[in-house]
Amino acid sequence: MKSYIEACRIIKDEIQLLETGTEEVTLLNSLNRVISEDIFSDINLPSFDNSAMDGIVINFKEGISKWKIDSEISAGKFAQTYIGEDNAALIMTGAKIPEGGNTVIPVEDISVENDTAILKSGAKYKFGQNIRKAGQDLKKNELIAGKFITLKPRHISLLASCGIPKVRVLKKYNFGIITTGDELVDIGSKCSGDKIYASNLYTLIALIEELNMDHTNFGICNDNKNDLRDVIHTSLHSNIDFLITSGGVSVGKFDFVMEVLKELGAEIIFWKVNIKPGKPLLFAKINIKGKKKLIFGLPGNPVSSFVNFHLFIKNILTESYFHSSRRTITAELVNDLKKNDLKRHFIRGIVDQNGNSGKYFVKEIENQSSSNMMGLSVSNALITIEEDRINLKTGDEVECIMI
Ligand code: AMP
Ligand code: MG
Repeated sequence: MKSYIEACRIIKDEIQLLETGTEEVTLLNSLNRVISEDIFSDINLPSFDNSAMDGIVINFKEGISKWKIDSEISAGKFAQTYIGEDNAALIMTGAKIPEGGNTVIPVEDISVENDTAILKSGAKYKFGQNIRKAGQDLKKNELIAGKFITLKPRHISLLASCGIPKVRVLKKYNFGIITTGDELVDIGSKCSGDKIYASNLYTLIALIEELNMDHTNFGICNDNKNDLRDVIHTSLHSNIDFLITSGGVSVGKFDFVMEVLKELGAEIIFWKVNIKPGKPLLFAKINIKGKKKLIFGLPGNPVSSFVNFHLFIKNILTESYFHSSRRTITAELVNDLKKNDLKRHFIRGIVDQNGNSGKYFVKEIENQSSSNMMGLSVSNALITIEEDRINLKTGDEVECIMI
């Protein structure tokens, strides 16, 4: 049995060895994608001197308070003109500054009569005011988005301002999903007697979508070894990078996942991690036609498979694919927590922030059974209790993984 830390390290090492291809996507398809190379601007921003206000553009000379307006320049409609000391042009925000112009007086500070602008009494102006200089925001050849940034709307805004139509990004991983169990029925079908809905299928798909990755749903497989072998074989020979199975990795009579994986030539890297919930996690790899595929056999208990996905897939991809840090918060317990074994526990809880102090507090949800979906749905965190800590007291500090 691996420790939590060892299991994370092994999985991270294997994921880092995966070949992650790149592809070019349009800017509109780049949201939440990870760019695979530095992006530089090939223009200045702004690319020309322009007015920051609606007003008049003048050629600054101390003491002047009256100008003849002899032209008009709006954004996108430049008018060739020369601004001397006594004339001015009406100018709108974003319009290009004409030759000789170097200062913009806002419209609020002048009155205009018969094409003459007069500075209002008490209004002042300074040389160079209200002009956005070419290149003041960024210079040509400047780095505008560094390799491995996950593109958010704010990045897309800058890239569009620089006129960049396409970006090269890391390819999404494709996750194959198989859920196993004779008791499982898909949602939308009749579920009676000893059957249950195959909720893990949807949990896993949602978790994968949340990571902005692709998935292929291989559906529900019953606990028949031949059927399981067929669907695992099909999935591994399809265009997937990861296979996630749910159920059938414990020690029950019909838990065939490990056996079938071995028969198909997979290498079992480890089975079982010293954690609660989610102990029976199985991690394996296989090489299919020169391409490595990683396999996560998750236990069927809905909470266990959810926790396993968070710890060993989401958290690790956050670091190795998204080059980002996992979201954890240190919070103070508002209840005692029972723990008297040497496993690492991940307890569902609700983290709240105190409005006045800004401090975080966390409360354990009552029923920690690994089949309790209601409890999971109201939780927003997994409270981590490390192996060597036992029975925690109210007021103790704990690390919470936000979910
Ligand atoms: P297993 O890991 O196959 O022994 O399953 C452990 C428990 O999880 C059993 O109570 C199963 O009925 C339940 N279970 C297995 N697969 C699913 C699933 N896809 N959705 C919901 N519960 C499941
Ligand atoms: Mg089962």
